[in-house]
Amino acid sequence: MIKKVFAVILVLTMVVPLTVWGMSGAKVSAATSYSVIGNTLMITGTGPMTNYANAVDTPWYDERETITNIVINSGVTSIGKNAFAGTNVILIEIPDTVTSIGERAFYQCHQLASVTMPNSITQIGIEAFWDCSSMESLTLSNKLEEIPNLAFTRCSSLTNITIPGSVKTIGYRAFANCKKLSVTFSDGLEVIGDEAFFKDYPTAPIGYTNSTLRIPDSVKSIGANAFADNKGLKTLTTGTNLVTIGDEAFRQCGLTAINLSRSQKLDKIGTKAFMMTSVTSMVIPDSVTLVGESAFQQCGSLSTVKLPANLKEIGDYAFVTTALEQVEIPEKVEKIGGRAFGGTPLRKIVIPHSVTSLGRFAFENCTSLIAVDISGFGLTFNTGVFDNCSSLNHVHIPKELPPSYYAGKYHLPEDTSCYFQIGSDGNCPAVYCPFRDKIAGDVNDDGKLNNTDIILLGRAYMAGDGAKYLSVADMNNDGRITNADIILLGRLYMNGK
Ligand SMILES: [Zn+2]
Repeated sequence: MIKKVFAVILVLTMVVPLTVWGMSGAKVSAATSYSVIGNTLMITGTGPMTNYANAVDTPWYDERETITNIVINSGVTSIGKNAFAGTNVILIEIPDTVTSIGERAFYQCHQLASVTMPNSITQIGIEAFWDCSSMESLTLSNKLEEIPNLAFTRCSSLTNITIPGSVKTIGYRAFANCKKLSVTFSDGLEVIGDEAFFKDYPTAPIGYTNSTLRIPDSVKSIGANAFADNKGLKTLTTGTNLVTIGDEAFRQCGLTAINLSRSQKLDKIGTKAFMMTSVTSMVIPDSVTLVGESAFQQCGSLSTVKLPANLKEIGDYAFVTTALEQVEIPEKVEKIGGRAFGGTPLRKIVIPHSVTSLGRFAFENCTSLIAVDISGFGLTFNTGVFDNCSSLNHVHIPKELPPSYYAGKYHLPEDTSCYFQIGSDGNCPAVYCPFRDKIAGDVNDDGKLNNTDIILLGRAYMAGDGAKYLSVADMNNDGRITNADIILLGRLYMNGK
C-alpha cells in the first residue's frame, strides 16, 4: 500500500511541472491539454481537467485578460476548480461529455454573457459563477442535483431562470444580490437555503422582478432571509409539504397577498418572517404551533387574521402595530408574548383559559379596546398588559374574585362598575355586553352610536357595499341598506344626544 501511494506521488511530481508551466499544447492534467490561440483558450483531450487550488495556478493565468473565448472539446469530463476564474471570457461552449463544474470555475468572469449547461452536468461547485456580473442568460442542466452555496451570488444582470425539477437544494446565498432576477421553481425542489434570494441593498430601486411567487409542493423549508427585501414581490403561494418558514424569510417584501392554505404541514412561522409587508389578511394553517417574534410586526394593512387551531405560542411583537380590529385567540394558546398586539385597533379580546403567560404590554396602546375577557385567565399579570387602553370599559373577570381585585391595577379601569364576574355558564350579567350584544346602528361595533357609524354606513352605501352592514344597520327592517336607513340612523343619533 505504501509503495503504491509513493508511486502515485512520484507520477504527480513528474506531471505537475508540466501542468503549471505548460505552454501551448502542454498537458494540464493526465487527461487533458490546452492551447491559447489568439483570444481563444481550447481544452482538449479525454477525461477530467485539473483542479487548481487558486486561479494563479492555472497555466493561462498571465493570459487571462486576453482570453475572451473558451472552447472545451468533446471528451473532457469536468471543468476544474478555479479553471477560468478571472478570465475575460464572453463565450463558452461546454460539450455534453462534461458532468461537473468545479468550485469557483468561473469566479468573477465579469464579461461572461451567457451560459448554457448541457444536461450531462450533475454537479457544480460552490462559488462556481460568483460575481459573473454581465451574465444575462443562464440555462441550467436538467440533471443538476444541487445549486451550491454562493453559486450565482452577485450575478446582477441575470434576468430569467428556471430551476429544473432535478434540483433538490438551493444553497446559502446561491442567488443573493441577483438584482434583476425572476425565478421559476419546479416541483422536485425541497430546500430553499438561507439568504438564497436575498438582496443586501434594500433601498436599491430595482428588486427581483418576480411579482408572483409560487413555491412548489415539494419544498419543505424556506430558509432564513431567503427572499427578504424583495420589494417587487406582491403575491406568495406556498405548497403542500412546507414545514418551516425561516426567520425574516419575507421581511420587508412588497407582499400584499400571502396564501398559505395549501401548507397544512407548516409548523412555525419564523421570527420577523413577514414583518413590514403590505399583506391585508392572513389565514394561518391549523398545523402551525408558533407564530414567531415580530412575525407580522408593522404590517400596517393587516386587518384580519385567522389564527390556527393548534397554535401554542404567539411571539413577542408578533402583531404589534398591525390594523387588526378583531382576532380570536384559539383555545390551545399558552403564551402570548410581550407587546404581541400592542398599538392595534382591536376592539374586543378574549383571553382563553389555556393561556398561562401574558407578556408585558401585550395589548399596550390598543386605544380602541372597549372590552376584554380575562375570566379564564390566571390571577396574576405582568405589568401594563393593558397599558394605555383608554377606551376599556367592560372587563370580564372570574366569578371567584371581586372587581376590587382588578380595579386600578394592571392598568385596568379604576371604576368597579366596568367589571363583570363570569360564572361557569359563561354568561355576562351586564344588561349590555359587547361580547354578546350589538347596538342597532353601531356599524363599527365599538359599543357606541355616533357620527362615525353614520359616515361608515354612508360610505358603504355610496360604494354599493351597504349590504355588509345589513345585520346591524337595517333600521327600517326592509332587508336592504338604503338612504332611508342612513336618515333613520342619523335621527336616532341626534335624539340620543
Ligand atoms: Zn360582558
